Order: sequence, then C-alpha cells, then structure tokens
Amino acid sequence: MTYHLYWGDLHNHNSVGLFYYSKGSLARTIDIAKSHLDFFAFTGHAHWHDMPIMPNNGHLKWSEGFEHHTREWPNTKRLIASANVDGEFVAYLGYEWHSAQYGDRSVIFPDDSGKLIRADDLAELTAYAASSGALLIPHHIGYKSGLPGRGANWDAIDESVSPLLEVYSEHGGHERDRGPWPYYRHTNGPRTTRNTWQYGLALGKKLGAVCGTDDHFGYPGAYGEGLAAVYAEAKTRASIWEGLWARRTYGVTGDRIELDLRVNGALMGATIPWAAHRHIQVKVRGWDDIAMIEVLKNNRVIYRYFPEDHALPQTTGAGTVLCRVEFGWGPWAALGIPRVTDWLFEATVERSRFRRYMPCFQSGPMDEERRNRVLEFGRNHCRWQSYTSRDGSFAEIPTNALVFEIEAVPGGTLHLQLKSPVERDFTYALSSLAQSSEIEFTADFPCESFIVHRLVTEQMCSAEFELDDVGTHKSEFYYVRVTQANGHMAWSSPIWVGE
Ligand SMILES: [Zn+2]
Ligand SMILES: [Zn+2]
Repeated sequence: MTYHLYWGDLHNHNSVGLFYYSKGSLARTIDIAKSHLDFFAFTGHAHWHDMPIMPNNGHLKWSEGFEHHTREWPNTKRLIASANVDGEFVAYLGYEWHSAQYGDRSVIFPDDSGKLIRADDLAELTAYAASSGALLIPHHIGYKSGLPGRGANWDAIDESVSPLLEVYSEHGGHERDRGPWPYYRHTNGPRTTRNTWQYGLALGKKLGAVCGTDDHFGYPGAYGEGLAAVYAEAKTRASIWEGLWARRTYGVTGDRIELDLRVNGALMGATIPWAAHRHIQVKVRGWDDIAMIEVLKNNRVIYRYFPEDHALPQTTGAGTVLCRVEFGWGPWAALGIPRVTDWLFEATVERSRFRRYMPCFQSGPMDEERRNRVLEFGRNHCRWQSYTSRDGSFAEIPTNALVFEIEAVPGGTLHLQLKSPVERDFTYALSSLAQSSEIEFTADFPCESFIVHRLVTEQMCSAEFELDDVGTHKSEFYYVRVTQANGHMAWSSPIWVGE
C-alpha cells in the first residue's frame, strides 16, 4: 500500500459559535483552509452541559454563542458539504462539546449527515458517535479535571470512538508535564502530570497523536498552533478518515516535519503481535536543522539521534537546501503606531530550482478580508502575498514566513523583489546564504524588516536510522519525538507491541 502524507487541522473556531471572542466568517475559514491545507474540520463551540454561573453573567454570552451555533447549523452543513471536493480538498463537518466532568471533545463526522447532538451526558454523545461513525477527539487534556480546568478524565475516554488525542494546540503541549509548551494562554490554569498523553499511555490507553490549532481567529492550520499529519491512500474524505481511525497520524507544532516510524515493518498507530525482537526504523525530514530525534519506549527515551553528529559543515550552498524567508517585525506596540503591513514578494532562483515550499502563516492579526497566499509557484519563480502586525500577532511573534526547498548548484542565486510595503530588489548568492543570513529593512526605524535565514543543508534537515530492541513486558509501545533547532516539534502516534 502506498500512502501519501496529508496536512490538516481538525479543531478551530470562528464567529459561528462563541462570537464574542471567536472571529471571522465560516466562508473565510474555508477559504483559508483551502489555501494551505489538505483537509480540515470546522468545530464551532456548540454546547457545555455543566457550565458554571460566571461573574457578571458571563455564562450568558456562552449560551448566546451556543444558540447562534445551533441556528447556523444548517448553513454550516451546507458550506462544509460544498467545500469538500475529493481529490482536491477534504472538509469534515464537526462541532465542539465542552464538559468539565468528562473533558472537552471535538466531534467530527465522516459525511454530511451528522446531527448536532447537544448531549448533557457523555454516554449520549458516545452512543451517537458510535451510530453515526463520528470521531470524538479529546483536547487540551492537560488541564486539571473538573471545574474550572476541563482537563482529561481518563475513565471517560473510550478508544472505540476516540482513537486519537490532540497532544498540542494553541493552549500548549501536554505530551508530558516537563516538556516545552507549558499552558499559559487560557483561564483554565496550568497542566498537570496526571493529564498528560504519557500518563494516559501508561494507563494502557491506545491513543494516537494529532495536533490541532484550536485557533479562535477562524484560521485553520495557523502556524505555530498545531497541525495534524495523516498517512492516507488519497486526498479523499474516505481515505483520510480511514487513516485517522488507523491512527496513521502524528502531530506537529508548526513546521511540517515529515516523520515515518516503523516497528517490525508496521506503520505508526498499529498494534502488532508480541515479538521479542523489535526492529525500529525512523525517517525524518524537517524544515530546519533537526536538533534531536528521540525514540521512546513506554514513555522513556531509549535512543537519541543527533543529525549534527553525522553532518559535514556546509560551506558551498549547493545540493538540496532550505531557504526560509521570514518577514514582519515593525513598530513596538508602546510606540503607539499599531499598523498592519501588506507584503508582496517575488522570488526567483537562477542556476538552481525550487522544488517545493512550506507556508508559515499565522492567525494574527485577525482580518476578514486580507489573505496570506502563495499566488504563483514554479521551478524558478514564486510570488506570494501576506500581512503582518505586531498588534494582535500570535504569541507576540510578529512574523510570517515561507520556506523553500531548493535544488542548488554552485553559482546559484536567489533574487528577491519586494513589491510591498516598498519596492526594493535584492540578490543573494546561495553560497553566501550558506554562510550567513541576510537582514533587510523596509525604511528607517521603526520600520518592518525581513530575514533570509542561513541555508539549512540536506544533512541537517533529514535523518534516517534503524535500531533494535528487545521486549520484556507483554504490552509495550514505541513513539518518536522530533525537535528542530527552531523549537518546532513532532510527535508520532505510538506503535503497540502485544495486546
Ligand atoms: Zn475545548
Ligand atoms: Zn476548541
């Protein structure tokens, strides 16, 4: 079976739901998803059966939002149905169900017939999921259980309807309690050891990994908020759905790191019969230097691979290289001149060629009309538009970026034509970019700027290794954690050996 890798976001919000803090139209959400993802589900805020009374009647705003979501449901169904075009772009119908008692779920349907079930009990929701084939994906599990955390309740997570778990979103990461990406952004408090993915895996829960943005600016796939990767036969609803149920999935924080893990030949997400000998194969291709690849067995690291130990220092700028063009910055908020800057770039490579690119477009600032978009892409030429602002940027990171994979030959050059916010031309020898980044300003202080990052070499962004391990317990699991030099990470679904 040949599987292709597809990128998507199964958890995001806009004004269809809690409109007082989630923004943007559903039409815009779909337009954005189509522009940079292979698949997505829209999961509007729909119901909270054990919602507390809040100060200043704050809970009434939530109730109003849920009523709005209910009224919009027929329109949501219509828009999602028409957005799905098998082979081109996959859209799933869904919604979000809150629960302090059981933990939140994203409810995602395989087809357009899904009903909005505003269940007051998890048993009712689970029964409907089982009968309709829906997926229930637990998310932001790391909070404390109950009120006000709304974190995981392991007793309530039923793998027959929940084969996957979100391990990272804009809330933070909860693979483990000491890792990076702590919970700071929401009122639900910090993360707890008892509600990490590792804790659930140790309990014997068979939960594959995805990441989802949980973006509230109507921006599915927003850079830095989490993405889901699925290995599927084709870009169709049915194929991607099959991949999700098979747990042939993994999650990344932002950069679309390619990751393949096999144990005795089986793909990630599989359960294989017990065998004393385990042959583990790992293949990774990142979009930055890979700092470290860790292989974990039963939540403990058993092997670490550092590409730098195997790489030669690069000096030529030839071969396969990655070139990241990052743009934004601009006036510090305290200067009192908040502004949104529109960018238009044209990039041309000479004596070399573009192979592909990765978009890194974040959700902020919220703007109904503006779009981040690659307008043209060919072997030698790329044109893209974007907008950035320090005001309203995600995690106070006021930039967007595009990363090119370039097949470079000695003497190759990169020509950048900036058309907006100012008209300027820049030419760089790839051999020079192999040595140092280049920074340009759009005007005088306090203007915007951009950087062409120092090139990433093939040897530093890719890795392939094998190792052998011996089993000791009747049920064991392996997964892989990847960390790039720029901090972006990937977590594979586990492979279980034994029961
Ligand atoms: Zn939630
Ligand atoms: Zn959510």
